Amino acid sequence: MKIDIGIHMKGGVITERNPDLCTVRVRLPAGRITTEQIRGIAAIAKKYGGGIVHMTTRQTVEIPHVRPENLKKINRALEKNGTPIGSERDEIVNVIACPGTERCKFANIDTISLAQKIDERLFGKEMPVKVRIAISGCPNACTSPMLNEIGIIGRAVPVRAEGKCTGCGTCTEYCKEEAIRIRRGTCVLDETKCVQCGVCINSCPYSIIVAKNRHFLITVGGRRGRHPRVGRELTTVPDADSAVAAVEKIVNWVYRRAWSGRLLSDQLDDIQFSKFRKEIAGASGGDPKE
Ligand code: SF4
Ligand code: SF4
Ligand code: SF4
Repeated sequence: MKIDIGIHMKGGVITERNPDLCTVRVRLPAGRITTEQIRGIAAIAKKYGGGIVHMTTRQTVEIPHVRPENLKKINRALEKNGTPIGSERDEIVNVIACPGTERCKFANIDTISLAQKIDERLFGKEMPVKVRIAISGCPNACTSPMLNEIGIIGRAVPVRAEGKCTGCGTCTEYCKEEAIRIRRGTCVLDETKCVQCGVCINSCPYSIIVAKNRHFLITVGGRRGRHPRVGRELTTVPDADSAVAAVEKIVNWVYRRAWSGRLLSDQLDDIQFSKFRKEIAGASGGDPKE
C-alpha cells in the first residue's frame, strides 16, 4: 500500500474512528457549488469513498471512508472538479456566508462575493490557531459570525429623510426592537435600541426612513464548542475591500502574536487586543469600538 504522506497531512484529510480510513473535506467558500460540481463530487465519492457525502456545519462537503492509498487520486480528481481538498487544522478554514444581497430581502451586504474574496487571499494559510470566518448580511446573524474567530455582519443605520411622516406606524410594526415610536403624529428613532438591521428602511411607503450608511461590523475572538464565547467588536468599515483589508490585518496580527495550543478567544487580552483595535481603526479609517 503506497500512501502519499504529503496529502495525508493536508488539513482537509481527517483520520476516521477506523484509522484505516480517511474523510476528505472539500474547499467550498460560502458553500457555493455548481450542479456539475455536485455531480462530480458524487462520482468521486462513489469511486474513492464509501458512496456517501456529508454536509458540514461549515458549508462544505466531506467524502467519508476514503482509503489512504486513494488520496493522491482523489486529490487530483477534486482539483479537476474545481472543488479541491479543504482544511480543518490550525489554518484559515472554509469561509462561510449567508445568501446576502444575492437572495435575502433582509441583507445589507453582498456576503458571497466577500467570502470568495477572503477565500482567494487567505484560505488554508497555516496559523498558530484555527481561524474560522463567518459572514452574515444583517444582524439576524444566520451564520453566527460572532461565534467565529472572525465575524462580519452587514448593517445599515436608519435616519429620517426630508418629507412628511404621516405617523402611519408601519415602520414601528416592522421594527422588532421597539426602536421606533410615534410621538405627536411622527416617528422617532431610538439609537440606543436600534441594532442597525435596516428593516425599517424598506418598510416606509413614503421613503421617510433612509440608510445613512451601510457598513461591515467586524468581530474577533468568538467560538462555539464546549465553552462558547461571543466575539468582541473590532471596528466597522464602509465597503467590501476595506473588510478584506481588515480581515488580512487580523490574520497577520494573529499569525505574528498568537500562541498555538490555546483558542484565540482565550488569548485576546494576552496578545493586546485593545491596542490592536486602536491601530486597525486608525489604519482602515474604521470606527474604534472603545
Ligand atoms: S443573516 Fe440576514 S441577510 Fe443573511 S440570511 Fe439571515 S436574515 Fe438574510
Ligand atoms: S434599523 Fe432595525 S432595529 Fe433599527 S429602527 Fe430600523 S428596524 Fe428597528
Ligand atoms: S416613517 Fe414612514 S412608515 Fe414610519 S410612521 Fe412615518 S410615514 Fe409611516
